[in-house]
Amino acid sequence: MIVFEYKRNNNNGKCGNCNRYNTSPAWCQTCDPQTVVQGWTSGNEKIDDCIKEFQIKTTEYENVIECIPFNRLCNIQMISEDVLSSIFLATWLNGIRTISDNKQSRTQSCGVNLKTLPSSQNLLNVLEEFKDYMQLENKKHKVYGITQNSITCEYMIVFDEFYSKRHHDNGKCRNCNRYNTSPSWCQACDLQTVIQGWTSGNENIDDCIKEIQIKTTKCDDVIEWIPFDRLDNLRKNGEYGFGSEFSAIWLDGIRVILGETSKFVQSRTLPCEVNLLSFLRPQNLLNFLREFKDSIHSENKQYKIYGITQNTITGEYMIVFDKFFSDRKISYGKCKNCDRYNTSLDWCQTCGPWTSGNMNIDNCIHEYKEIIQWIPFHRLYNIQVIGKGGFGTVFSASWLNGKRINANQRTSIIVALKSLPGSRKNFLREFKNYMKLRLIGSKLEVYGLTRNADNEYLMVFQYANIGNLRNYLISNFRKFNWKNKLKILIDVTKYLNQIHIAGYIEESDSEGVYGVLPYVAPEVLNKQPYTTASDIYSFGVIMAEISTGKPPYYDIDYDVNLASRICKGLRPEFAKGIPECYIQLANQCMNVNPSCRPTASNMYDKLSSFWYYTMYNYDEIFKEALGIKKAFESADLTIPTLLTTIPNYSQAKFTSKLLNFKNLSNSFNSFESKPLNFQIHSNPLNSSFYDSTLQKCFISNNADN
Ligand SMILES: [Zn+2]
Ligand SMILES: [Zn+2]
Ligand SMILES: [Zn+2]
Repeated sequence: MIVFEYKRNNNNGKCGNCNRYNTSPAWCQTCDPQTVVQGWTSGNEKIDDCIKEFQIKTTEYENVIECIPFNRLCNIQMISEDVLSSIFLATWLNGIRTISDNKQSRTQSCGVNLKTLPSSQNLLNVLEEFKDYMQLENKKHKVYGITQNSITCEYMIVFDEFYSKRHHDNGKCRNCNRYNTSPSWCQACDLQTVIQGWTSGNENIDDCIKEIQIKTTKCDDVIEWIPFDRLDNLRKNGEYGFGSEFSAIWLDGIRVILGETSKFVQSRTLPCEVNLLSFLRPQNLLNFLREFKDSIHSENKQYKIYGITQNTITGEYMIVFDKFFSDRKISYGKCKNCDRYNTSLDWCQTCGPWTSGNMNIDNCIHEYKEIIQWIPFHRLYNIQVIGKGGFGTVFSASWLNGKRINANQRTSIIVALKSLPGSRKNFLREFKNYMKLRLIGSKLEVYGLTRNADNEYLMVFQYANIGNLRNYLISNFRKFNWKNKLKILIDVTKYLNQIHIAGYIEESDSEGVYGVLPYVAPEVLNKQPYTTASDIYSFGVIMAEISTGKPPYYDIDYDVNLASRICKGLRPEFAKGIPECYIQLANQCMNVNPSCRPTASNMYDKLSSFWYYTMYNYDEIFKEALGIKKAFESADLTIPTLLTTIPNYSQAKFTSKLLNFKNLSNSFNSFESKPLNFQIHSNPLNSSFYDSTLQKCFISNNADN
């Protein structure tokens, strides 16, 4: 017995049989060949002997050749034929031998090639030819074994026709674990997936397309059968003798390779403008395709064909192609929309300027072009769910260098993404309604539209929540008199209402909620869902804070004790001399029972009436109005004393933290709770000045993020 001691190395693992280090990875050249030759027969002694002769000399696990039963090979397609032999593509159900986790293993079923041996009927000649092939070709075309076609009885070599094209830089095939033959493309495995599983409904056309497909050597050269409903917005551009030329949007986008050397990935562009040529008779298409097939590897291709489709209305076959292929040059840069090279400097003849790829959406964006833009989804990252419900899902995201701050400068900001109610079809109508309201009223700022990987359109708009509304109030309006404080509070309730209508609610879960403790509603501290009423609670706390000019409970720690006390009914104090109506309203906001709190719209109405009363001189007969006016006027007198007593406290206390308290006592209410009955006032305000102030504030806040 040969021992191969010099080859044994601990990096190869230990042999399970002789317990010595292996001679190559997961392979003991003394023991493993003995195992491989055991326990099988092809049914023909001469073949067995020939194969076993190779097996016994095998030095590496992955080089073992074997007799492969023909029924383990399927999807057999001819690639080429000549007088002497034919080459096929097939799927080997057993998969090829590979080492995984330092153990002998096999890949999943994968693509291999078959080659008929010229003298296939004469066994002795076959074996000679096989031995020659092993000697001459095994380096260039890795051999896996031999099989016999059970119908024709021909012997065939099972091998890898593309072995010499496999290269590390192309990355590894996910299927067979061999290096790819071109970037992110395994000629053996990927071709199989392209060829299988579709039909045009016409056998001749199927065959013709498959003949072209089988010559594909690069992922982005694949010609595919394109279902007609994947083409949108078909427009006729001209007629010819044999048919017509059209433009359309291909919803699936063009195949592209992304990534870098050894880490390439197959991908597709966004829905993309393509050209189409129709053929009145199928024969015309066949002639065209045959001509195309012959020119497939010629250097100066004028067109690039993406696929074939059939117009389901007229029955005409059409090729889907790029008319401007020969104009595209690397030096012109890449088109941001279709990812192809431009046809002239910074200009793509097909796409023109930046586009969503959908004409209706483009038109809509054009309509509001001063305000909104198309935002490619890949510019949005760090996407997180912040709200869910009947209105759809709201996300927050970072928009990479998105927000324009001046003519040639953009900055990254946090934005919100939201799908609009209604089906995809109604999206634009919903969006236009939203924009109309926005232009009349003062909705949150809309930045544009985007489309996610599921082809869902989303509106991209200003990110706002009760937290940054507070920052706005507290930092800017300490010095304001009550008339102005009320006006600002009114604007905040207006925004809050819009946020709530937009379905814009923070999400909390079993992990707790992010926030600054005193502003978080007791039910949320108790792990109940965060609702619009939880925002109203925070608003009540802010109302108290505005009255004192001091953060709530600033002199004690924001810890579990405080959380527990809040749940037991602790509420912030109000400054002396604050009108009773104001305190009552704030306390209603801080009611322990969320359903007893007013809505943002109620608050807007109520605060508006307060403000209205402070504005005018009332007769004695409007006792209530006069009383409220006088109460706020006398509260103004205490403002200077508040300013001189601003406490020292750490800003760190007011950064948002994850709040997750266990076993807080059940909440009970320290206030009487009665149903609210707000009067509806017509809007007495023209608050457009404050709206624009508030918007500016948001924009600068966002720009800081
Ligand atoms: Zn051994
Ligand atoms: Zn593969
Ligand atoms: Zn383009």
